[in-house]
Amino acid sequence: MADPSGTELLDRLHDIVGAANVWSGDAIPDEYTHDEALTGTAVRPLAVVRPANTAEVAAVVRWAGERGIPLTARGSGTGLSGACIPRADGILCALDRMQRIVEIDLDNHCAVVEAGVTLDQLDEALQPHALVYPVYPGETSASLGGNVATNAGGMRAVKYGVTRHQVLGLEAVLATGEVIRTGGKFVKATTGYDLTQLIIGSEGTLAIVTEAILKLYPRPAHTATVLAPFATLAEVSAAVPRIVNSGVDPLVLEYIDALSMAATTANVGLELGIPDAIKDATSAYLVVVVESHHGDRLEVDAAAVAELLAQLGALDVYMLPPHSAALLLEAREKAFWVAKQNGANDIIDVVVPRASVPEYLATVASIAETHATWVAGAGHAGDGNVHLSVFQRDDAVRKQVMRAILEAGMKLGGAISAEHGIGTAKKEYFLELEDPAKLALMRRVKAAFDPHNILNPGTLLD
Ligand SMILES: Cc1cc2nc3c(=O)[nH]c(=O)nc-3n(C[C@H](O)[C@H](O)[C@H](O)COP(=O)(O)OP(=O)(O)OC[C@H]3O[C@@H](n4cnc5c(N)ncnc54)[C@H](O)[C@@H]3O)c2cc1C
Repeated sequence: MADPSGTELLDRLHDIVGAANVWSGDAIPDEYTHDEALTGTAVRPLAVVRPANTAEVAAVVRWAGERGIPLTARGSGTGLSGACIPRADGILCALDRMQRIVEIDLDNHCAVVEAGVTLDQLDEALQPHALVYPVYPGETSASLGGNVATNAGGMRAVKYGVTRHQVLGLEAVLATGEVIRTGGKFVKATTGYDLTQLIIGSEGTLAIVTEAILKLYPRPAHTATVLAPFATLAEVSAAVPRIVNSGVDPLVLEYIDALSMAATTANVGLELGIPDAIKDATSAYLVVVVESHHGDRLEVDAAAVAELLAQLGALDVYMLPPHSAALLLEAREKAFWVAKQNGANDIIDVVVPRASVPEYLATVASIAETHATWVAGAGHAGDGNVHLSVFQRDDAVRKQVMRAILEAGMKLGGAISAEHGIGTAKKEYFLELEDPAKLALMRRVKAAFDPHNILNPGTLLD
């Protein structure tokens, strides 16, 4: 272990990245001590180091490895599972100086980006080329490295899948300080274990990602948004496969329960003009976004969706004007902040098979009632990803509720986290509820990558 007074530690880190890129003690900004998880506790590490390139990351990791000092990678700190909270006896390796878009390859339709590039930065760079990187989690200040490490998803997953479907290759620093490249500017290779996919979603516990090769798509010029209130969630869920089957290939298929709709639209000052009688009869809304390269084709698709929703029992169907549509999606993206402002004590991002969403939500309602807990939510209905805010101030009761809700999702063939990851926030539930044989295998994988357990120890696994 390093000298906790830090002289040797700081000297060595200064040698590697320059004194201006190492912070310690009170010089560490508060934001580097936590992420956005509601239940995490901020921790001040021995030092924050901000390398400028892969060689510097490798030198930091090699040195930390030799000294047995824990190292936690950080992108933008927007994570919701406490996964980038550093350790008091460790180093936080912030990738936020590595923001170079190395290449936009127009012929291979891919972008090569350094890990600290944010979704916003990439999107801005792609717009002039009429291209898009389609993974769209609600917080676009997140880094691509963080997206890779959490296998980020978001509203467009129903059409484009999640991060693991859009990453072609990685450059990563191993716990030894060795640098590997996985995959490449191609979609297929059958050359042994798929290390790209193993590193994606590993929450900084297997390697530090320094670069990613991402798939790009032509950016559709036209989108339309259809909003449909339904009397029951069962009807919302029944509508989802029908819309998918209709062939319109929706970009977004999102459900928002009536309570969340009221709170989130009020937050962005959006008045949708829905009559009170309809609002009062509504238990959930379905938001369908379709996109197209051709305006006339889009109109046909949007009209088909509207007609189908009416046939499927929607109380009414609204074709939103572009400004209201943009505000509604923004409201949905900001749902987390609204829940936080309103005192949410925990959040859930369980995934279940999409046809099981109504059964799942009925079970959740019953668990909430039994424990006198308030639960509200929205979700990516198209892919069965349910986002819930849990309001229960008593920690012991909250944990019982969390455990019961997560377990109910698993019993329906789902998983504890669809996109936020396990981190430290969901770890106790994960270790208790996950198949022990799978956990044992994961521990062996971790040991193979990181035998001295220096990469983000305590996250995901003990
Ligand atoms: C309002 C809001 C809405 C959100 N909506 C969504 C959503 O719709 N879908 C979704 O999936 N997520 C969502 N998130 C969660 C969050 O934005 C994602 O988890 C995102 O991928 C985190 O990226 P980051 O750069 O902030 O990572 P961080 O929070 O910095 O880190 C997250 C994890 O990744 C690791 N990590 C970071 N960079 C690297 C690297 N270069 N190499 C190895 N490991 C690394 C960290 O150690 C940690 O384990 C939302 C968050 C907020 C605040």
